[in-house]
Amino acid sequence: MSMLKNIIRSFTLSELLKGMRLTGRRLVSKKTTIRYPEEKTPQSPRFRGLHALRRYPNGEERCIGCKLCEAVCPALAITIDSEEREDGSRRTTRFDIDLFKCVFCGFCEEACPVDAVVETRIFEYSFFERGTHIMTKDMLLEVGRKNEDQIAADRQADVAYR
Ligand code: SF4
Ligand code: SF4
Repeated sequence: MSMLKNIIRSFTLSELLKGMRLTGRRLVSKKTTIRYPEEKTPQSPRFRGLHALRRYPNGEERCIGCKLCEAVCPALAITIDSEEREDGSRRTTRFDIDLFKCVFCGFCEEACPVDAVVETRIFEYSFFERGTHIMTKDMLLEVGRKNEDQIAADRQADVAYR
């Protein structure tokens, strides 16, 4: 019986017609693909991309060198050295994030008591030289400086979401 069905299907080209019907439907339906990189999909304010270190509006570093982020990082991707300044405050002398180890879990930014280390929306980056996968403190501060407006807006949206 199934053999007879297969023969009928073959002669009536029913499978081919089914396929053409599906193709026709997709031709006029809303497209789910985009032309990346010219077009981008929407991003959540909670997107976890490249890290940044932030400063306060007066230019002072937010990070107080408490090392909570280093302790909580499951991938051991963060390395921090810190020392006390003349004014008695503690600041980092070294703040490295190894992007080859990082799993972008967001634990570091959740653990930070002063919103100093954050993950930005940046996901388009690459490395062309050995060793440049380690984000140094200067590099992280520079990412923070360039993207502070977006970071601040995303933090506000995140607070409202909670
Ligand atoms: S996002 Fe996660 S894995 Fe990456 S540095 Fe932060 S805590 Fe570590
Ligand atoms: S980034 Fe935040 S959690 Fe990490 S050492 Fe600085 S203040 Fe502490």
